[in-house]
Amino acid sequence: MQYHLNGFKPGNHQIPDAAREPASLAPIVDLPSEVDVLIVGCGPAGLALARQLAAFGDIKTCIVEQKPGPMLFGQADGISCRTMEIMEAFNSSEMLVKEAYQLHQNAFWEPDNEQPNHIKRTHKVADARLGLSEFTHSVVNQARLHDILLEGMAQSVTHLVPHYNRQLLTLEVDSELTQDLNAYPITASFERVDAQPAKVETIRARYVVGCDGARSAVRKNLSIVLEGDSANKAWGVMDVLLVTDFPDIRVKSFIQSKDNGAVMLIPREGGYLVRLYVELDLLDKDQRASNLELNVDDIIAKAQLIMSPYKVDVKEVAWWSIYEVGQRVADRFDNTPAGNPEGLIPRAFVAGDACHTHSPKGGWGLNTSLPDTFNLGWKLAAVLRGQSDAKLLQTYSSERRKIAQHLIEADRQMSALVATRPSAQKDTQVKTNTADIEKFIARQNGFIAGTSIQYNPSFICSGTEHQHLATGFTIGQRFHSAEAIRLTDGRPQHLGHLNKADGRWRIFIFGNQQNPTDRASDVYQLVQFLESSVTSPVKKYTQDNADIDAVIDVYGVFQQQDLSIEDLPDYLWPTKGKYGLRDYEKVFHAKQDSDIFSQRGIDRTSGCMVVVRPDQHIATILPLNATEELSAFFAEFMLA
Ligand code: FAD
Repeated sequence: MQYHLNGFKPGNHQIPDAAREPASLAPIVDLPSEVDVLIVGCGPAGLALARQLAAFGDIKTCIVEQKPGPMLFGQADGISCRTMEIMEAFNSSEMLVKEAYQLHQNAFWEPDNEQPNHIKRTHKVADARLGLSEFTHSVVNQARLHDILLEGMAQSVTHLVPHYNRQLLTLEVDSELTQDLNAYPITASFERVDAQPAKVETIRARYVVGCDGARSAVRKNLSIVLEGDSANKAWGVMDVLLVTDFPDIRVKSFIQSKDNGAVMLIPREGGYLVRLYVELDLLDKDQRASNLELNVDDIIAKAQLIMSPYKVDVKEVAWWSIYEVGQRVADRFDNTPAGNPEGLIPRAFVAGDACHTHSPKGGWGLNTSLPDTFNLGWKLAAVLRGQSDAKLLQTYSSERRKIAQHLIEADRQMSALVATRPSAQKDTQVKTNTADIEKFIARQNGFIAGTSIQYNPSFICSGTEHQHLATGFTIGQRFHSAEAIRLTDGRPQHLGHLNKADGRWRIFIFGNQQNPTDRASDVYQLVQFLESSVTSPVKKYTQDNADIDAVIDVYGVFQQQDLSIEDLPDYLWPTKGKYGLRDYEKVFHAKQDSDIFSQRGIDRTSGCMVVVRPDQHIATILPLNATEELSAFFAEFMLA
């Protein structure tokens, strides 16, 4: 899709500019007095959590934002492969795939040896993330991602909409009540920033999640401390429409000049818009970028110098900002003491920039913030709905803090590579070496894509002794999707796209070489166990009046190409819903050309079960006959 030709206009580009009106906001209503989950902040972290919780009609969620309405411009623009996979879990990847710039190449520019004040392309390479996911790394306005999440919330069973114009004033956690799951230990007060005279509203909640960004008031109220380096370098960022003779304007480019610093150029959605990150000045200790008193003209002038001899004629600036780089991570991600030695149930959490801050150049801000709450959302839902023991909530901090620490370290390295910096020798500076950047991207490609994020072993991530049964599904990492053919209609289907953000667990049964229609086969025996044994987790945790896949959704994937659905156990094409209709979409066979068994290293002789968490991460891998271990796995945290 091409758009922004005659100027930047925010909004949904599927609607022509001339026909597009600003979205109308829901009328302002008072905050509810009591909710299950209070979310502070409508950035990617807050909205992804709200989007997830909105799907549960029995959970009362409230999301509050200090700004007067949804974001229109700026901030993050990189949507990693993993974030795209999460958006698919919300059924919303298609819009982004259509609208976004898809990143396939990187170009590297350095001073021309013959004319050192001019830059020259050294080389172009394919993006190192290609092939790590069925999605490519994409670039699109953060505001569009927000719009899509907001739409999903509004269209959910709870029709959830944010309460805008509310700024958090105070937050109290009553420590006497935190271990009583039915209590409302959180009391928060908000000021209506649009009201004259100012109006204060109070709300009580069972849980609160601070998604209120780098200057988080929730974090401060919980006395959580950010640890790490402060900034020493100012950068300018601008989204612009420009006329230029720079040939790689539609390729992500790392540009290093001889004496004027570096530019990182990111082509944007719509075919014309471009983002430039421009290196500005080194900051003194405790100096803030805002003290430099620079404006967009200074950023443009610096970009023109760095990109010489190419013309950079900026026609329109859609958004710009100046920021400093610093890497910090919170000492705790919830209200329990560090390390939680007493095993307390956390009731207040921080997520996203509220608990990790770093430079924007790695494109990690949004792409770490949104998965933070994708990790937390299903856990809150499972505890609130009485499906899981509340100790599940302790795993948010232990799983996501490790990722944030890795992020901070990676960003420290990346920031050092993509900028001029003081050297150990006095009065000299170390300049960017684009070859080092290329090596860094290749080395960290899985982390940058978000696809190699791996959670620590715990009661929801275990069983590594059976990892050899499916070497391409790494326990702790997200389910790496691959295609198989749906048995009943021959349609190719990405199995990863069956993992929706609906709070359900999934078991993929990868069959062995025995015919699964044979009653003596391992698959048949396993299916019988799941369907009818008193120790089956499916039987134990699914309410009598609910559909058989309401809590644990089971799929069969077979090597045999010539199966007929009517020969397979009923459980694999179960009757569901008020009419008892059959579900014909649970059985698959491998494709002949790209066979999922080969692609994901699944043992063809043994087969296996792959158990997938509601956030798409692989919880465990078990042999087909490991029914006791399967029951024991779920018994560790599920409530009958
Ligand atoms: P945020 O997106 O910061 O959202 C927090 C929300 O909480 C905001 O809407 C805020 O208004 C609200 N809020 C804060 N305090 C309160 C309160 N007391 N009461 C109620 N609401 C409150 N990333 C990049 O990758 N590239 C970039 O170029 C880039 N540029 C950025 C420029 C700016 C000015 C900022 C602020 C961030 C930028 N980022 C960039 C970072 C990226 O946008 C964040 O990493 C990402 O948005 C983090 O998501 P979040 O949901 O954790 O927090």
